[in-house]
Amino acid sequence: MVRPVATAGPRVNSGRYGRPRAQRRPTSTTGDEFPTGRRGLTVSAGARYSHPVATRSASFAHRHLVGIADLDAAAIGVILDLADRHQAIAAEPVKKLATLRGKTVINLFFENSTRTRTSFEIAAKRLSADAVNISPSQSSAAKGETLLDTAKNLDAMGPDVVVVRHAMGGAPHLLARTLRCAVVNAGDGQHEHPTQALLDAATMRRHKGQLAGLEVAIVGDLAHSRVARSNLLCLTKLGARVRLCAPWTLLPPGLTELGGDLTRERSRITTRLEDALDGADVVMMLRVQHERTAGEAPRFANPREFSRTYGLSARTLAYAKPDAIVMHPGPINRGVELAPDVADSGRAVILEQVSWGVAVRMAVLELLTGSAEA
Ligand code: ASP
Ligand code: ASP
Repeated sequence: MVRPVATAGPRVNSGRYGRPRAQRRPTSTTGDEFPTGRRGLTVSAGARYSHPVATRSASFAHRHLVGIADLDAAAIGVILDLADRHQAIAAEPVKKLATLRGKTVINLFFENSTRTRTSFEIAAKRLSADAVNISPSQSSAAKGETLLDTAKNLDAMGPDVVVVRHAMGGAPHLLARTLRCAVVNAGDGQHEHPTQALLDAATMRRHKGQLAGLEVAIVGDLAHSRVARSNLLCLTKLGARVRLCAPWTLLPPGLTELGGDLTRERSRITTRLEDALDGADVVMMLRVQHERTAGEAPRFANPREFSRTYGLSARTLAYAKPDAIVMHPGPINRGVELAPDVADSGRAVILEQVSWGVAVRMAVLELLTGSAEA
């Protein structure tokens, strides 16, 4: 049970935020891959909110979240089910639970971020954790050393979770090996951004019921996108099929080999936008990451040409299914990868993604703190 915090403190939600069963969407992620025991997490009408961490351990045994690569479909399902329940708290007048009371979450962001850092901070605070933000300026010399020194200093302060964003792929893995607390990857270089893929899966599940069998097009700068990598792994594990679309110059070699046979079987690469969009249920557009190509030869002639060939407009969206949803991890470059009228249309679920971000991060923080205590 979620215990209210001491009477002198802020009032904490008693947990009655489950929506009536009739309004709930199906919660199964992968159909029969989902262990039946997890059904216990579903909140029935008016049911009291039971402590989620107490029911976690059987299906979620991870101490860190450094990449989707480490999770199986069942573990992803546990996170998404818990996020489903936390999503409802955003509509409550008192947006607070006591599950992380007395815990400390450090947001260690070496790379710029507004959205992701704020999302983690709100998630931690909604669970009553103490959230601390640190943004060390990144030293270009000896990055690894600086990171390890910083990590050891943080460890000495006894946090429960460190959320890290770093330009160097593998930085969260290094911290996970060094620190005693739980480590969450909030984006490491061009490698992974696991909570983004999880919030994307939660958004798709809300709109499409389940991910198994969905056709998802991911279009744009695949070469530099940690979002694309994490999504490719997450979506294929959950039974969706992925079409990856970019000009040759923005396609990294070996992308579909990333997760071995599974991603190879369930994904394909195309350089034609119409081909990627044809019959798609979900269209995920990615920003061209200019900050990652500074000093390199241009990968395409100019933004106008990119937009004409790979941009999503009302005309090109017509290739997708009539009920296809449009997603974007943000920040959007309006008029480049996404036409403003599409971004602002009812088909776009971009702000819903942001809102699911908080719920998914609440779930991750709870599960990892439970895990770390075990
Ligand atoms: N870098 C972007 C921002 O800060 C998105 C992100 O944080 O993931 O808004
Ligand atoms: N916000 C995402 C990231 O941090 C995507 C982007 O920046 O374009 O990777």
